[in-house]
This record gives sequence, C-alpha cells and structure tokens, in this order.
Amino acid sequence: MENLPCKGCRGLCCGPVPVTERELKIIKKKIRSMPHKQRLALEKQPRFYGTCIFYDLEKDRCGIYSARPEICRVFGYHKNLSCFRKPELATKDNWTAKEKHVGILSQDFTWKDFK
Ligand code: SF4
Ligand code: SF4
Repeated sequence: MENLPCKGCRGLCCGPVPVTERELKIIKKKIRSMPHKQRLALEKQPRFYGTCIFYDLEKDRCGIYSARPEICRVFGYHKNLSCFRKPELATKDNWTAKEKHVGILSQDFTWKDFK
C-alpha cells in the first residue's frame, strides 16, 4: 500500500477521533508502559488547538502509534476518510466502525483518564 505523505504535516489531521472501549484499554496500557519522564514530556507538549492529545509534535508523529485507534490506522485509504494531500489513495469503500464507539478521544477522554 502506498504511503501517505505525513512527514511535515505536524498532525494536521490528528484531531479528536472516536474510540471504542477496547481501544481505550489498549491506549491505557501503552501510556502506563511508557517511562514516567517520557509520558510526562509527551503530556506537557504544547499542541495546536484541536490537535489530538497524543500527538508528538517534537517527533512529528503519533505519540502512541502502536496503540492508535482503528480510525487512525485506516485514515486516508477509504472514500469517507480521504487525506486532502493525497486523495487518490482513498480508494476503499466507505469505512464503518466494527465496534461501538464510547466517546471522543481528546474531548471525552483526556490524559487524566489514562493514568
Ligand atoms: S493523513 Fe494526510 S493530512 Fe494527515 S498527516 Fe498524513 S498527509 Fe497530513
Ligand atoms: S491517536 Fe495518534 S494517529 Fe490518532 S489522532 Fe491521535 S495522534 Fe493522530
């Protein structure tokens, strides 16, 4: 699969995303497994208004990459989740969630919920 040109975007499309109960558990595990200093540094990073609370602006990538929600994994490749920088990659049918979402990451669930 061809990659999206994400380097340099600085989290442009990383805003509040819907999450499932299962995904919240996976993120919690990931956050708790981080060394304390690293976790604190990520939490305290200044971010643009509306940017996902887990976006790592210093490294210009997702701060919880291996634990990111499903919607973040499929973004850019489905017709209803296209990236404006490379819309031609959005060739798959509209994406629909397989599991029920329980809220929005960065809005309903913030750093305090993952400690
Ligand atoms: S998916 Fe698109 S908008 Fe989002 S970071 Fe990648 S290139 Fe940028
Ligand atoms: S979890 Fe990661 S990939 Fe998903 S919106 Fe947040 S920073 Fe972006």
